[in-house]
Amino acid sequence: MITTVGVLALQGDVREHLAMLEASGARAVPVRRRSELDGVDGLVIPGGESTTIDKLLRAFDLRDPLRERLAQGMPALGSCAGMILLADRIVGGTVDQQTLGGLDITVRRNAFGRQVDSFETDLEVAGVPDSRARPVHAVFIRAPWVEEVGPGVEVLARVEGGPAAGRIVAVRERDVVATSFHPEITGDLRLHRLFVQIVEG
Ligand code: GLN
Repeated sequence: MITTVGVLALQGDVREHLAMLEASGARAVPVRRRSELDGVDGLVIPGGESTTIDKLLRAFDLRDPLRERLAQGMPALGSCAGMILLADRIVGGTVDQQTLGGLDITVRRNAFGRQVDSFETDLEVAGVPDSRARPVHAVFIRAPWVEEVGPGVEVLARVEGGPAAGRIVAVRERDVVATSFHPEITGDLRLHRLFVQIVEG
């Protein structure tokens, strides 16, 4: 049976993730309703604006069902704002900002600075085949970094040079993966393939 992977489609980089998932061999569907969430085997939470997605999750009555699916172990991939939404703890959020949780990490929102400080770099990412020889080109846009990880969390990548050297920018806990950067906009399918494989179990 072909694996169905949803992309939370309230705001953000939805189309790009759908295309990358399809190219990685999954059936990819946008998720805006509870019935659509019920039909997916795993979910991508895209980059965008975490405060906006947080509000829309409540407006669309998706927040509680999604928390429930995550608590039951549904595989998830969060990028940038998606990483923030998956984090159990957040630093630098707005006063009333809530996350979904599911990942035992503390994220720092807008950690790298403002929009002008967005940057690109090459990364070796654990679990991504061949990424030492052929690094993942990572694009950071007002990105968070991971300030702290719990004992069950595997660090997949750290920034290798420059002022943010050593900062954690990709993590995995069980079947939940999160990246500070945007794997959906470079055409490199390896992270989406890794996630589809996780969903396929
Ligand atoms: N800074 C954004 C936020 O707080 C995330 C940016 C992004 O997803 N590209 O949600």
